[in-house]
Amino acid sequence: MRKIIDSHLHISKWGEDDIISCFDNYKREKNVSTLNICAIPLRMSNVANNILVALYKLAHPDTYIHGGIEIVNIPLDNMPADMNAVTQYKELMEIGFDGIKMLEGKPNVHKIVGKNLNHPSLNMLYKAMEEDGTHLLMHSNDPDEFWDTERAPDWAVNAGWTYTDGTFSSYEEIQGQTIKILEDHPNLSLTLAHFFFCGKTPELLEGLFSLYPNLCVDLTPGGEMYVEFEKNYSYYKDFFNKYSKRLIFGTDRAYLGDEKYGNWIFDLVTTFIDTDKPTKSFDNKDLLGLDLSQDKRNDILFGNFTRRVGEKPRTINREALRKYIDKYSFALTEYDKEKLKPLIKKYL
Ligand SMILES: [Zn+2]
Repeated sequence: MRKIIDSHLHISKWGEDDIISCFDNYKREKNVSTLNICAIPLRMSNVANNILVALYKLAHPDTYIHGGIEIVNIPLDNMPADMNAVTQYKELMEIGFDGIKMLEGKPNVHKIVGKNLNHPSLNMLYKAMEEDGTHLLMHSNDPDEFWDTERAPDWAVNAGWTYTDGTFSSYEEIQGQTIKILEDHPNLSLTLAHFFFCGKTPELLEGLFSLYPNLCVDLTPGGEMYVEFEKNYSYYKDFFNKYSKRLIFGTDRAYLGDEKYGNWIFDLVTTFIDTDKPTKSFDNKDLLGLDLSQDKRNDILFGNFTRRVGEKPRTINREALRKYIDKYSFALTEYDKEKLKPLIKKYL
């Protein structure tokens, strides 16, 4: 059976059904070998999501997990030493997380945390992670059309993901701050999600790849980038061949999410990477598979990811997880506490 790791998923919303089995069907139906579930501070705090994904891993020990640093309830400007970004990072690694996920470069979250990815508190975190060789998966920016009411797609407008009222950082500002992270920490094991939203400017990525040996991008849509892959097929065919060691498969599937849509994304991305066949893309036109060699497919589908985070997921340290829950319970809402309680009882 072919090996395939979905390197980028979320459980970001409480559902009524058994949340700990939420990806069982997906794994079975699509023959996905392993998942990497990433905590994000949307709809619940990073603390709540960290605890939830750690419990998921206790139930499914073959899963990778990436944790988030709590910077909404513990603002960057006033972090006490025993809860600063580095302390939290070390605690997460002690629990058995496989890396760190940041959503703080997504414009709406970026605004909440003070619009600065180069804040001294975060620089300390990048430095510690660079020294340890720990993987950082970062969502930075959004499609450039989200800053333009004329060009923004309806679904983005409806999700509140348009940034035209002057209170958000610009695409260029967030891009610049992200590149500054690499300038300051050139060996950081950094994966920029969604192709760093550079479908229209891949030469920028080529420049960064030449400077930073541990930089990758993931291939989670970002529908707009798949339209660019289709429009500039021969350029991108060369690009994927040349940079196959810098590209990582993922779907950004989320619970609660639309299963049908999630399966469609999986089929689109895998057909593109793993075949020479056409498939309907986001603009409803045919996107032709890249017809890569088996080695290059394997790099993208799992090899690049496991080289960054390890051949096997790390094991959960129950004692460290219990300590984390006690220490950070102030960052949980009553609702999160009520939802987590039976799961903690059952799995921890
Ligand atoms: Zn995501």
